[in-house]
Amino acid sequence: MQLSLKREDLNDATIQGNKWLKLKPNLELARQQGYKKLLTFGGCYSNHIYATAAAGQRFGFETIGIIRGPEPKQYSPTLQFAQKAGMQLHFIDRSLYRKISELQTQQAISRPFQPAYILPEGGSNALAVSSCAEYARSLPQDYDIICCACGTGGTLAGLIQGLNHSKKVIGFPVLKGGDFLYSDIQSYLSAGNRHQSYNNWSLISDYHFGGYGRCTSPLENFIIEFYQQQEILLEPVYTGKMLFALFDLIEKGYFQKNTRILAIHSGGIQGLDGFPRLKARLNLT
Ligand SMILES: *Cc1c(COP(=O)(O)O)cnc(C)c1O
Repeated sequence: MQLSLKREDLNDATIQGNKWLKLKPNLELARQQGYKKLLTFGGCYSNHIYATAAAGQRFGFETIGIIRGPEPKQYSPTLQFAQKAGMQLHFIDRSLYRKISELQTQQAISRPFQPAYILPEGGSNALAVSSCAEYARSLPQDYDIICCACGTGGTLAGLIQGLNHSKKVIGFPVLKGGDFLYSDIQSYLSAGNRHQSYNNWSLISDYHFGGYGRCTSPLENFIIEFYQQQEILLEPVYTGKMLFALFDLIEKGYFQKNTRILAIHSGGIQGLDGFPRLKARLNLT
């Protein structure tokens, strides 16, 4: 058994991990098309909102964040950061937010801010998926299975596409009931190439720890132990869940002997700010 971690949390201090991979080609296109403004969607703790706000500030775009739910009295650390980076925040009703993937709703919401380059929730679009595919091809190939935590599944779709049947790909949904991602990932893949089908990937959906953004004591303890042993920070929303799952599965003999696993540390360390108790236990405050 060999487990390696690819440190994409180190690729940038603020526009970190897979969020940078997904934003990069979109920023290039937005610039080429003459846009001065980026508009996107997310929850109060969204790493994508954080990364988009930081990217806008760094690369000279105005940014608009359409945030799920009513305006909170006390902004989350993510929203505080986004606002400081110059992002204009607009809060919308949860029931309306649920429909933002529909083109009509998206157009209605974004109309007052046009012209703006629109990034979907989580930053996952066709360009983002191709960027993750290119990333997958750039990795050293000395492993059998590649693993990644999944939110929208855009990053995983890119890994599947880029590795083109040469490896096994396993995704760990962080949301409860993550099996819905099978069809979402399928559609990202068929948008890239309708005639190609992939069966070298799967999802392991039972390490959601109660749902998106939920952290249990065992998960918290795991992140602390991992930090003490490896001096590598994880956060409980994505990477902590994936590595907890991998350690657990390895211990249970899930993988064949001599399997070489490459896990992607997809970044998102800022997410720890939403977990003050864990941060304190990590002695980071
Ligand atoms: C957003 C995010 C993911 C999930 O990426 P998707 O492409 O939406 O599946 C994984 N890890 C981290 C740290 C993230 O911020």
